[in-house]
Amino acid sequence: MDSYGEARCLKRSTLIEALASDLPPNTVRLSCQVNAIKLDPLTSDPVVYLEDGTLIKAKVVIGCDGLNSVVASFLELKFNYNYSTSLVRGLTYYEKGHGMDDFVILYKDPTRLGRIPIDENLVYWFVVQNRNPQDPLYMKDQKLMQQSALESIKDFPREAVEIIEKADLDSFHYACLGYRVPWDLLFKRHYKGGVTVAGDAMHAMAPFMGQGGAASIEDAVVLARCAAPTIQMLRANQKEGKKMLELAFHQYEKERKMRVTLLCLQTYLIGLLIKTSSSLGKFVTILLMIILFRDPDKLSLYDCGRL
Ligand SMILES: Cc1cc2nc3c(=O)[nH]c(=O)nc-3n(C[C@H](O)[C@H](O)[C@H](O)COP(=O)(O)OP(=O)(O)OC[C@H]3O[C@@H](n4cnc5c(N)ncnc54)[C@H](O)[C@@H]3O)c2cc1C
Repeated sequence: MDSYGEARCLKRSTLIEALASDLPPNTVRLSCQVNAIKLDPLTSDPVVYLEDGTLIKAKVVIGCDGLNSVVASFLELKFNYNYSTSLVRGLTYYEKGHGMDDFVILYKDPTRLGRIPIDENLVYWFVVQNRNPQDPLYMKDQKLMQQSALESIKDFPREAVEIIEKADLDSFHYACLGYRVPWDLLFKRHYKGGVTVAGDAMHAMAPFMGQGGAASIEDAVVLARCAAPTIQMLRANQKEGKKMLELAFHQYEKERKMRVTLLCLQTYLIGLLIKTSSSLGKFVTILLMIILFRDPDKLSLYDCGRL
């Protein structure tokens, strides 16, 4: 069992609402699925193709469209799904309080159960387990997700099993873990013309270190810092603006590349450790982790600077 010093639970919807509330009215358009990105053959500006047939001619496209990113496909970035691992997560509400205070991970290879209190009554939890061969079925049926999580943790202490038994079925979510291989991240270019990526679209990683979302916010800070000065120029002088934008994307990539490659590499090695059954494989992976990541928390304590 591991207990982690400081961990803060943040509801995704709260973060999104807070970010959106600072934008001018009507900036956000919901329910528009992007099907493809292409470059206009005459101007080289990006054109965004929406599912409803609409085309948006843009000057800049920043793809924050997650693991199955259309924008990352346009940039020919590759994602991998061959972890034999999946993840069930959810919320459990304790009417009379749960009495838990820390973020705790319990493990019995290859399964991990993590839980963290959100407030006095509500607990967020996740179970990392061997991937189920019937994945598509599990993606939709919350009762099956619960059964699969309970099956994976059947040898865990009773109080751990109870978290899943008492969980709110509506809150269950099942995901097959995908990730970007670290060397692809290191050697590929993350921008083309006025198009780049941020967040999981750039550096999806399995959630073993709980850093994917944090790193995505860092991307936003660094990208804003690099690209903000070009916005005025794009309006005033398109040719100069495009040149400045390319420099800004280059600077953004330079600042982020090593940081996210190391995060993805450490996560990748943890994934290998969970997945590998051979003792030799485990030994080599642990050795690599000791050599490369002597202080396992170092990457989590990162300051990307101010806007
Ligand atoms: C189980 C689990 C636990 C995690 N725990 C942590 C943690 O403790 N700490 C942490 O920092 N990170 C954690 N992460 C990682 C974190 O959730 C991700 O890194 C983060 O959500 C990435 O944000 P994003 O905005 O880049 O992508 P996403 O959150 O995936 O958002 C992408 C958005 O783009 C939309 N979209 C996708 N495709 C299209 C399209 N074609 N057209 C239009 N819209 C599209 C989607 O609907 C979605 O709204 C965890 C991840 C998982 C799966």
